[in-house]
Amino acid sequence: MEKRLACWPFSFNTGHRMLSEDFQVQCPYCFESQWLGVDTSLAEDQSYVEDCQVCCRPMQILVRVDESGDSGPSYVVEARHENDA
Ligand SMILES: [Zn+2]
Repeated sequence: MEKRLACWPFSFNTGHRMLSEDFQVQCPYCFESQWLGVDTSLAEDQSYVEDCQVCCRPMQILVRVDESGDSGPSYVVEARHENDA
């Protein structure tokens, strides 16, 4: 059975690589902040569409990997209007 601890975003030092992390993004339509689970197992840039949890309009989610940090790759997650892509 999986330990639930692995689901928390602040468990970097447990030695287990997580497959996803939660990031806070702001909806470009209704400007509500929300937490989004992002698959970080690939360690590469991603772009996909996900519906806003509040207004249900399609957000373009951009995930960029920043490997310049000392403590391993970090991720920058942005939500944009779908039509901006
Ligand atoms: Zn929204």
